[in-house]
Amino acid sequence: MLSKVLSKEACAKCGFCCSFRRQSLWELPRMPESFAGEHPVGASGEAIVYEYGAENGSRFCVTDLRGGYRTDDPEEEVRCPFLDPKSGCVLPEGEKPFDCSIWPLRCMRLPDGGLHVCLTPTCPEINRVPEERMRELVSAGLGERILDYAGKYPFMIKEYRTGFTILS
Ligand code: SF4
Repeated sequence: MLSKVLSKEACAKCGFCCSFRRQSLWELPRMPESFAGEHPVGASGEAIVYEYGAENGSRFCVTDLRGGYRTDDPEEEVRCPFLDPKSGCVLPEGEKPFDCSIWPLRCMRLPDGGLHVCLTPTCPEINRVPEERMRELVSAGLGERILDYAGKYPFMIKEYRTGFTILS
């Protein structure tokens, strides 16, 4: 969905958003519960451990990476099980979690309750794209699509965090 500003090659080479420090686990993509049954194994062929939860009145699953850390180093990263270190995400485009297909955009709730499309400040590739270009993209239909999805699957809504740029 962001192919106009992010190339697949750049994303595959970077992989930043597919590895997680403990403090970034809140960023793990959330999927409808049915996703777990449809995707039982990861890139290495190992069974994936999922965790289940509910937020904003809707149920979801996330990959459970907590057992993957080997040290106490807060900078240690654990890869998403769908990430192949050489070829990138092994999921076909149509099966990627919605959260992944819109990264680094997020649907966030501001303290006044309003839902907005926001830009994550940490994506190394998108930081090269002018902010105005991102605003155009969001206002040209992508923002509406994200808010529609959030209406259907409210578990994807995150509380606003300082540093995220509000685009719509
Ligand atoms: S599902 Fe694919 S795109 Fe999403 S975090 Fe995992 S490897 Fe990355």
